[in-house]
Amino acid sequence: MLTVNAYAAPSAAEPLVPSTVVRRDLGEHDVLIEIKFAGICHSDIHTVRGDWGPQQYPLAPGHEIAGVVTAVGSAVTSHAVGDRVGVGCMVNSCGECTSCLAGEEQYCLVGNIGTYGSVDRDGTVTQGGYSTHVVVTENFVVRIPESLALDVAAPLLCAGITTYSPLRHWGAGPGTRVAVIGLGGLGHMAVQLAHAMGAEVTVLSQTLNKRDDGLRLGADHYYATSDPETFAQLAGSFDLIINTVSAVLDISAYLMLLAIGGTLVNVGAPGEPLPVNAFALITGRRSFAGSCIGGIRETQEMLDFCAEHGLGAQIEVIEASQINQAYERVLASDVRYRFVIDAATFAEGAAGLEG
Ligand code: NAP
Ligand code: ZN
Repeated sequence: MLTVNAYAAPSAAEPLVPSTVVRRDLGEHDVLIEIKFAGICHSDIHTVRGDWGPQQYPLAPGHEIAGVVTAVGSAVTSHAVGDRVGVGCMVNSCGECTSCLAGEEQYCLVGNIGTYGSVDRDGTVTQGGYSTHVVVTENFVVRIPESLALDVAAPLLCAGITTYSPLRHWGAGPGTRVAVIGLGGLGHMAVQLAHAMGAEVTVLSQTLNKRDDGLRLGADHYYATSDPETFAQLAGSFDLIINTVSAVLDISAYLMLLAIGGTLVNVGAPGEPLPVNAFALITGRRSFAGSCIGGIRETQEMLDFCAEHGLGAQIEVIEASQINQAYERVLASDVRYRFVIDAATFAEGAAGLEG
């Protein structure tokens, strides 16, 4: 077993602190990854603070992992020492159900095993990427193309795939009008990806403060949702709306921005229910849908798409000691547009790799 440095939350009410986590011995299908960068997703904050229900503590979050392979198990065929790789929100699934066989492990009927806070096959609780190393079965490790720097690639492992998957599923492309609600970590990837797919892209943000960034990222239009005129002006305007907001919104008001037959896909995951007025759906044969990350095959496809189009996350690299401040800034919508932790800073001041 390997004991490696990490940052973990001791409880829902306390800040994250330097800590260690235990990684299992390398199994024959396992890959040992030296983590270089770990993104901070709003889901990390929801989870450690208990928004989604009770957790087992201490808990090290982090599911936007980019690093380099430093060892492989005897039966590993898809990765080799020195490879640049990523790990996202899942580290295993049953591999046998219809979802897994379809390459949609995120919808595993038995339940996928999350990168942190999930009970693993051996009964232990998984610990995430806010650490120096991780051991993952090879099928849940993806290749990061050479042209993508590891720091800007890390957020693609969650923010990238979570927006890429619904854009593809609902057919974003030339001739489609896509709106993105919230210009945060997921939202800024949704804008770049939808633009690269050829869609006409509109940002719906609380204010116009980030308008220049939104347009630079590829948006064609940018509106403030704090202005009630926005809702009157844009009624019936979109084929697809991706809601990335981490809080409860008036979904019915946004549904009315869809054209007849349009779909609003919720990827934002507030802990509380999102009420919907049935008439907002009925009067325009509109759909209200949800989408969860993406499968491993699609995650690789997304990384290759980003490499092909020169896309990556807009990041602010921080040291491990700044994680708690970064959390407060994410909660205040003061993120441009993803915090990424330099994993070398987990090593400072605590125990090294044993094993
Ligand atoms: P984020 O960086 O904090 O971005 C969320 C954005 O939503 C903010 O930047 C802000 O954008 C807007 N917003 C925040 N609070 C708001 C409020 N009260 N009213 C209106 N708008 C508000 O978060 P993220 O990392 O992108 O994650 C977003 C959500 O997606 C989280 O709930 C997360 O758990 C969830 N998520 C879901 C999946 C999935 O598989 N479905 C995967 C990853 C994350 P503006 O300043 O532009 O308004
Ligand atoms: Zn995430």
